[in-house]
Amino acid sequence: MDGAHAGGKEPDAGRAVTREATLIAGDGVGPEITAATLLVLDALGMKFAWDEQYGGMAAVEKAGTPLPNATLDSIRRTRLCLKGPLTTPVGGGYRSVNVALRQEFDLYANVRPTKTIVPGGRYQNVDLVIIRENTEGLYVGLDHTFKVGGDPKAVAQAISVVTREGCRRIVRYAFDYAKQHGRKKVTIVHKANILKATSGLFLETGRMVATEYADIACDDKIVDNAAMQLVIKPEQFDIIVTTNLFGDILSDEASGLVGGLGLAPGANIGTAAAIFEAVHGSAPDIAGKGIANPSAQMLAAAMMLDHIGELEAGRRLRCAVETAIVKDNVRTKDLGGRATTDEFARAVARRA
Ligand code: NAD
Repeated sequence: MDGAHAGGKEPDAGRAVTREATLIAGDGVGPEITAATLLVLDALGMKFAWDEQYGGMAAVEKAGTPLPNATLDSIRRTRLCLKGPLTTPVGGGYRSVNVALRQEFDLYANVRPTKTIVPGGRYQNVDLVIIRENTEGLYVGLDHTFKVGGDPKAVAQAISVVTREGCRRIVRYAFDYAKQHGRKKVTIVHKANILKATSGLFLETGRMVATEYADIACDDKIVDNAAMQLVIKPEQFDIIVTTNLFGDILSDEASGLVGGLGLAPGANIGTAAAIFEAVHGSAPDIAGKGIANPSAQMLAAAMMLDHIGELEAGRRLRCAVETAIVKDNVRTKDLGGRATTDEFARAVARRA
């Protein structure tokens, strides 16, 4: 599998083969939502040979580091990982495990679908995907302060680095994803009116890539307008592709439109590996109570199935989650229900 493509159909797709993948159950609610997700994958008949590894606080306790080499080696080998949320240890000088994984495996595409599932919310027909460049822009780490006179932080400077190749591969990823998932339009979001070099290069390259995809419509929007349009009329968006900082902000904004972290999945796709996870964190306030909503982790697993070419299984999984919530009205507390994590998992498994 080449992780650079938006989930190309694999020769084994649809057949009951056992695939190797790394599993990091994670911290807090991680083990609970991961167990629920494995139950549903099993009900779907999807077979994985899980190489179970540690990350985050669980790894600190076991191996003295939040990201052990064994975990990295496993992902290097399997190139596929389902990951629970990891608590970032406060103090002790640990760097973020998520940032380390992104760098280690060049996970350049952050993919976050946003879809209305629960009826009766503010927005009824949201169904969009934000594809964020994950390695460049203002996140390259060139962020400094300078001393002037007696003030050690008199001036602060951040440098944004955007490369033509970086723009090309993320926009191609967005268009390939559109083709793969039957989507009709890609909107390039930028700030080229002000950031003429960096955002200008993204827009220019994006428009050039768009000419290679005659069947997919393309338009572009300045980021501030896009942020407003997302609130006014989110149904107009299909796929948004954008640079790192804008994608970070817009994807959180978008998930807020459909209510709740418990329903937001995400994928980090790179040339060397792909890692799938719920967008939310380890939720320490409800960990161990058996009430976490496992939908986001299940929907992340559905993205993983798409990525390895199991599109039908991915569709069935998404459908089962929706049916359990909407038709069967089995809902965890965050969605106004009383179902436990396990009860919800069994409801989804029945519909799988
Ligand atoms: P959080 O996402 O863990 O929780 C925010 C709120 O949402 C809490 O009230 C929580 O109970 C609720 N919530 C989250 N997931 C839920 C679910 N599945 N079902 C029901 N309710 C849910 O954010 P936080 O409290 O700011 O972070 C806790 C820890 O997670 C921190 O250490 C943070 O660094 C880490 N974190 C990790 C990731 C990741 O690994 N991808 C992402 C975000 C935060």
